[in-house]
Amino acid sequence: MPARPHAAIITVGTELVTGQRLDTNGAEIASALLASNLDVVEMLSVADDIDRLAAHLARLTGDCAVVVVTGGLGPTHDDITREAASRALKRPLVRAHEIEKTLASIIARHREPEAAEHILTQADVLDGADVIAPTTGTAPGQIVQTPGGVLLLLPGPPREMRPMLASFLGTTCPATPPIRLRSTGITESDAQIAAQRVIGDAQGVGLTVLAAPADVEVVLFDEGAGLPELERIGALVRAELGDVCYSSDGSSLAETVVMLARRRRVRLACAESCTGGKIASALTDIAGASEAFQGGVVSYANELKTDALGVPAEMLERFGAVSDETARAMVTGVAALTHAEFAVATTGIAGPDGGTAEKPVGLVWFGLQTPSGVSSVRREFFGDRAGVRTRATMFALDLLRRALMES
Ligand code: AMP
Ligand code: MG
Repeated sequence: MPARPHAAIITVGTELVTGQRLDTNGAEIASALLASNLDVVEMLSVADDIDRLAAHLARLTGDCAVVVVTGGLGPTHDDITREAASRALKRPLVRAHEIEKTLASIIARHREPEAAEHILTQADVLDGADVIAPTTGTAPGQIVQTPGGVLLLLPGPPREMRPMLASFLGTTCPATPPIRLRSTGITESDAQIAAQRVIGDAQGVGLTVLAAPADVEVVLFDEGAGLPELERIGALVRAELGDVCYSSDGSSLAETVVMLARRRRVRLACAESCTGGKIASALTDIAGASEAFQGGVVSYANELKTDALGVPAEMLERFGAVSDETARAMVTGVAALTHAEFAVATTGIAGPDGGTAEKPVGLVWFGLQTPSGVSSVRREFFGDRAGVRTRATMFALDLLRRALMES
């Protein structure tokens, strides 16, 4: 069975290795390579240093089918990627005349006579390279055949890099994309064991499990099985994971909730105390959320729970803000305020202070309003403040998902 081809990524720039700029290209390129079924085995950042970059390029082009480099293709003295690639592959640089022509208007904008020579270096490409003409910047990308596969040189600015990467992957690496099953409410190990049980000794299917707080992703790769077999196994793994699995195309939980609500033509709302707006934020991150999400109330103080949501002050006094009764009253209040058919409420103790024996840090009460009535759930989450808030947010979204699935 052929394994997935190996790929490596090099991000070039002294600003990246000195912490002055965050490397966002690396993660974006890695995700795109993963979606093209390539096995990314190395990702590194290198300073603007020809010798160092040439050494890494010589090594990685020798053992990876695809090597992607971003950065260092501009016109200034620190843009050393062309030269380093030329040395590593022992191939001369030649001037690409069609690119040279497009640079004429840019040269005209500079006042230093020397600038023209700097700018024209961007038209230097490795002998035999396929040139990807820039659409948003000035530096072209380059696709260079290497003894072991292909080397792709891309500019550093993300908006220049992106379209070139997409065109390269679309034409050079058409492949079966992996199946990405996402779940909440299951541990990483349980998900891995369940998936492995289904895969058994089936040949040609690769498995990776990725975990974030309350979010576990099982990724199934085509390693020779082919699309129909990958889809068959994907469906079986999904069934094995059961109702904890919320998507099989990599969509997030919030995306799934918005999609379900839009499909059912119902409105959503939330009343948040300990999650402080994270549920509303997750839902409004999704394009098209306005068709379903009415809004929410971040009622952190007791007074606002009373004034905005109608939670009776005596109830707060008697049972406390973190209680079954308050969670129910909050969700009823926000549903009445927004006319949403489905609403969720959170009230809990995120910590690190404020816990008691009876109401420990991590305790969260959830209220849920659906067309069939109001209910509540008590949960204790582990982790620090950020962890408790993230897990509570995921749990609240999952309550909405499950209610929408049943409706
Ligand atoms: P360069 O192509 O090396 O001249 O890079 C130009 C600009 O692109 C840099 O100043 C950064 O703002 C941006 N850039 C380069 N590499 C990256 C990267 N790996 N992630 C995000 N931005 C980058
Ligand atoms: Mg640079």
